[in-house]
Amino acid sequence: MQRIVILGAGFGGLFAAQGLARAAADLTVVDRHNYHLFQPLLYQVATAGLAPSDVAWPIRSILSRQKNTTVLLDEVVDIAVDRHQVILRRETVPFDYLVVATGARHSYFGHEDWAETAPGLKSIDDATQIRRRILTAFEQAEMTADAAERARLLRFVIVGGGATGVELAGTIAELAHRTLAADFRHIDPRAAKILLVEAGPRLLPFLSEASSSYARRALERLGVEVRLGAPVTACDALGVTIGEERVGSATVIWAAGVAASPAARWLDAPCDRAGRVIVEPDLSLAGNPDIFVIGDAASVTTEAGSPVPGIAPAAKQQGRYVADVIARRIAGRPAAEAFRYRHAGYLATIGRRSAVIEFPRLKVTGWLAWWIWGIAHIYFLVGVPSPFIVSIRWLWEYLTYGRGARLITGDHPHDKIGGPAA
Ligand SMILES: Cc1cc2nc3c(=O)[nH]c(=O)nc-3n(C[C@H](O)[C@H](O)[C@H](O)COP(=O)(O)OP(=O)(O)OC[C@H]3O[C@@H](n4cnc5c(N)ncnc54)[C@H](O)[C@@H]3O)c2cc1C
Repeated sequence: MQRIVILGAGFGGLFAAQGLARAAADLTVVDRHNYHLFQPLLYQVATAGLAPSDVAWPIRSILSRQKNTTVLLDEVVDIAVDRHQVILRRETVPFDYLVVATGARHSYFGHEDWAETAPGLKSIDDATQIRRRILTAFEQAEMTADAAERARLLRFVIVGGGATGVELAGTIAELAHRTLAADFRHIDPRAAKILLVEAGPRLLPFLSEASSSYARRALERLGVEVRLGAPVTACDALGVTIGEERVGSATVIWAAGVAASPAARWLDAPCDRAGRVIVEPDLSLAGNPDIFVIGDAASVTTEAGSPVPGIAPAAKQQGRYVADVIARRIAGRPAAEAFRYRHAGYLATIGRRSAVIEFPRLKVTGWLAWWIWGIAHIYFLVGVPSPFIVSIRWLWEYLTYGRGARLITGDHPHDKIGGPAA
């Protein structure tokens, strides 16, 4: 029996595994988390709209009906390409075919020490940490008698004007100005300042200028201050420095940079500037036709020569494609044609009333775009357990302004009530 190993059970890895459900092979799926995460709704966990269990599901249960599949909770530390072995923390796993789908992580552009004070949003732990920091800032503001400290606690800085930054800024503004408005006695949460800082000249750079400008205006209507062409030059527990200006803040969130997982290092393979492995037209590694790299870990170009974007539909399409390539080889069928990316469009929400959508032939903004975004995400949820229940919870959160998940959980010295430990 051929041994197929898939590293990572995100969108790419999971779709590859599901595409190989009927292959006459032993399939092993490895992930360092026991859950598959629906990252597009993670910002809702970070802003206390949805609970973690609404956006993540155990990989083991998603794949439980696939009798040819074993799930391993372990972390990849290296790949011995010549020996066809994956080195995990606890064991070494041999393979005949390997699919690397370990995604991406944050990049602090050489300032890794900023991670402690400015968490990024990538995992459930990141989201609950950000939720804790946001909610704790309001609690601390309620308790302090010092007006300057109160202002610092009620200032939220989001670094990075891509989709995650825009979605976080809009939702934190609504949390402060609507959801929490009546909950405190000594502070007015509506006085909270939300600052979205972007080093480039516009928000959502993957969209047209008109959609970027629309997003900016929509955020400003929600009370978000948008600063463009404003690089963050320092970041610590008391705030950020933007250019030369010091801005005090107890809650800085990093949504600025993405770097691929260390797949290129593990495979000793060529990569692009973001660390994504450069792959062949069938998504395999040059010189190693049995090893594939997909999703955010791979650098793939479209037929027109532009880069395939790091979004969920691209990872899913690549997962399905490599499953087909491997299944054909195992069954001795003719090889598949080169991978072709089909772009469905870009979507980003701005709070709960607005969104921007750019389909290949149609641009939509405003509330209609929000509903299209919502319906598209419900459609994306198909394939995960209980999409209907998640959709209902999500609708409930929408109607009630997220009264459900405003819990401060976990423990970290930075966001202890009363401030960081001395
Ligand atoms: C906050 C956020 C919001 C987003 N919003 C959208 C959106 O609205 N629409 C959209 O289309 N895209 C969105 N994206 C992008 C989309 O989620 C990614 O493009 C997609 O998840 C990539 O899929 P992937 O399989 O390559 O990687 P991932 O889905 O990131 O999966 C990688 C998997 O590998 C595992 N892994 C990583 N390293 C190791 C290791 N060393 N050992 C073992 N396991 C490992 C991880 O635990 C994870 O399960 C968003 C991303 C983020 C972070």
